[in-house]
Amino acid sequence: VRAMQAHLDAYAAAAARRAQEVTQVVGAALVDDRQRVLVAQRGSGPLAGLWEFPGGKVEPGEPEVAALVRECREELGVGITPRAFLGEVPLDGVVAGGVPGASTLRLWWGRITAGELVAHEHSELRWLGPEELEDLDWIPADRPLLPAVRALLVDR
Ligand code: C5P
Repeated sequence: VRAMQAHLDAYAAAAARRAQEVTQVVGAALVDDRQRVLVAQRGSGPLAGLWEFPGGKVEPGEPEVAALVRECREELGVGITPRAFLGEVPLDGVVAGGVPGASTLRLWWGRITAGELVAHEHSELRWLGPEELEDLDWIPADRPLLPAVRALLVDR
């Protein structure tokens, strides 16, 4: 019985640790002054060839907006200014170490405020208008956010 209790304690501790390490992902809908948004094509990995909003994983303890700024600097070589939260979708659990529904992608819109765009990690970058977004081959997580981005571009 004692051995089994120790086993259960270890299991509970591991589950608690995992819950705290749940990965959050942030994305940036970067808008230019011509009502276009920046989209990026993944260059490697299982999602290679699919399009996404630039972004990535929030590090433990890192503020979400800081992660957004850091990812855009790493991936695109630019400084950005986040403006407002646009929407959130659940990820499939792959990102959060297999915990279903534990992780979300949170999308912000913002502006490029410094530097010149360079595709450091993506195979291609494109500026698209509101009518061009739906036709791309999106990674599944990002597609539900398209109506919010479209509304943002159309309303401006
Ligand atoms: O870009 P990075 O590889 O750091 O992103 C980590 C994971 O976050 C990706 O594997 C993908 O599942 C998810 N992601 C997403 N939508 C984005 C950016 C990343 O679902 N716009």
